[in-house]
Amino acid sequence: GADSGLSPHLRRSLGNTGIDVSPLGFGASPLGGVFGDVDEADGIRSVHEAVKLGVNFFDVSPYYGATKAETVLGKALKELPRDSFVVGSKVGRYGESTFDFSAARVTASVEESLARLNVDRLDLVQCHDIEFGDLDQVVNETLPALVKLREAGKVRAVGITGYPLDIFPYVLDRVPPGTLDVVLSYCRYTLADDALAGMLPALKAAGVGVINAAPLSMGLLTDAGPPPWHPASAAVKEASAAAAALCKERGSSLAALALQYALNADPLSVTSTVVGIDSTATLAKNVAVMMTPMDKTLLRDVKAIFKPVANVAWASGKFPG
Ligand code: NAD
Repeated sequence: GADSGLSPHLRRSLGNTGIDVSPLGFGASPLGGVFGDVDEADGIRSVHEAVKLGVNFFDVSPYYGATKAETVLGKALKELPRDSFVVGSKVGRYGESTFDFSAARVTASVEESLARLNVDRLDLVQCHDIEFGDLDQVVNETLPALVKLREAGKVRAVGITGYPLDIFPYVLDRVPPGTLDVVLSYCRYTLADDALAGMLPALKAAGVGVINAAPLSMGLLTDAGPPPWHPASAAVKEASAAAAALCKERGSSLAALALQYALNADPLSVTSTVVGIDSTATLAKNVAVMMTPMDKTLLRDVKAIFKPVANVAWASGKFPG
């Protein structure tokens, strides 16, 4: 049921691709040191352990840790049977402010990712954070280049990612049907901001699979609080700290509630919720959280804390907050 725990062994089809992914996805950006140093051997073990526990979907990008996340994930994937995992990477973003969505660069980029990940085909390739680029270039040049790679069998599915929700209908309205298989949204289906929910019916009608990333809003919705670079406003950070304190008082954790909240999104619309995993300990914790039903009273009280600051977006790329 909608409020019971989920099994990591469940599978959902990524849009119309026939690619089956687990409801909990493994976000590999922490393996690139994005949230601080990680123990590489433990990071590799966490990938192997994830597959054993039923988590089969891995999200990465050359951007994360300047290719380090792909390299570490690739070391882990090398030891696994190819049909035991689904791996998605990205193109177009290479640094904090380094972007290149040209056909030539993204085509070369896929080859580089294949080499680092030790696979001969990507299950998914997505244009990374397109709100920083020219959306019309993404429509007219980048996506056609990725569709060619799909036709050549280098990638199985094609998508776009970004933070402002308006980018999704903008691109969907301008590409030929069947171009986009998947969209990845992040930080927009969380306890603090669930604006993605309003767009799910349209995305579902368009036949695209939806990946919901960063259910903890990039560390904001944790006891430890957000990293120093986190873009949320002071008011949202204060509400998060208050919510974390309340969860602690109730013998629970804000991170657990935040993950359960995202995992309980409409399963017909959201294919996989991708949470950042930095270690075997974080993996074990989140798989346990996934299988535990959500505390609805706590959810109501935490939602009340966020209500005055709910769904306040920050600026990203060429889009204002
Ligand atoms: P997140 O919301 O998943 O939070 C991750 C942070 O919370 C990490 O520091 C992690 O170690 C920590 N954490 C995880 N589980 C925890 C728990 N139970 N208790 C306490 N702390 C916990 O944010 P994220 O990692 O940025 O996002 C998840 C993944 O989604 C990324 O790794 C990436 O793969 C993907 N993502 C993609 C995009 C994009 O394509 N534009 C943007 C954001 C995220």
